[in-house]
Amino acid sequence: MADDRVMRVQEGLSAHTIEVGSEALDRPARNSAGGWPFLDDDQDWPECFCGERLALFFQFDVPSDLEHFGGDHLLVFHCRVHNEAADPQLAGGRLVPRYWDAPQPPYPRPFWRVLLQRRATHHHPDADPSVCGLPLNLQPFVDTPSPRGLGVQTFKVGGTPSWAQDPEHYRCACGEDLVYFCQVPEDMEFAVHPDQPDQPYSVGTDTYNLFLGNEVYLLACPAHCDPAAIWPVNQN
Ligand SMILES: [Zn+2]
Ligand SMILES: [Zn+2]
Repeated sequence: MADDRVMRVQEGLSAHTIEVGSEALDRPARNSAGGWPFLDDDQDWPECFCGERLALFFQFDVPSDLEHFGGDHLLVFHCRVHNEAADPQLAGGRLVPRYWDAPQPPYPRPFWRVLLQRRATHHHPDADPSVCGLPLNLQPFVDTPSPRGLGVQTFKVGGTPSWAQDPEHYRCACGEDLVYFCQVPEDMEFAVHPDQPDQPYSVGTDTYNLFLGNEVYLLACPAHCDPAAIWPVNQN
C-alpha cells in the first residue's frame, strides 16, 4: 500500500496550469480574470462587510478530470479595501460553523468570498469594474513532486501544493477533511483598470493582489456542504 502511494507521487498528479491571456474580454467568459461572474440564480454579487462589492479576481470551470471538484465553477472574490492574510478560526479541531461568514478578528466577517458550485449557469449583467477582464487558459500538465513532495510553484488547479511552509490541513465544520485543489503563487498581481483606486499594501499601482500577496492554497470541502466551504491557506 505504501509502495503504491510512493509510486503515484513519483509519477505526478494531473493538473492544469492557469495562464492569464492578454486580449481584453469583450463578452462574458467562464474562465476569466475579472469579467462577468457566473453565479447561481439566487446569488447576488458578494459584498464585503464594509459594503463594497468584492472584486472578482478570477473564475474558471474546474477541469472534469479533477477528483472531487471536476465540473464545478470556481469564483474568487476579495475586497479591494481590506487586504490582509486569512486567519483560520477553529473550534473543536474544525473550522468554526459557517466559517465563510464567521468573524475574522478584528473584522466582523471575512473580506473575501470563494465559491465552488455546480449550477453557475448565468453570468451577472455587470463586469467587475476594477480587475481587467482577461481570458484564463488552462493547460494540462503533470505536476511531478520534488523529492520533498512539493508540487510546482505556479498558478494551477490540481496537482500537489508547493507549500512555502509546513503543509496545513483543516477539517470542515461539517466534519469532512478539506482537500487542496488550487494554488495562486506568491505576489501574483492582477491587472486593474488605471482609473481604479489603489489597493492598500499592493505592490503595483495598476494591480491588486490576494491576501497581501501571500501564496494562496485553496482547500475545499469534498462533500460540497456549502458553495462557500473553502479555506484559503496563506503562506509566504
Ligand atoms: Zn472590505
Ligand atoms: Zn463541509
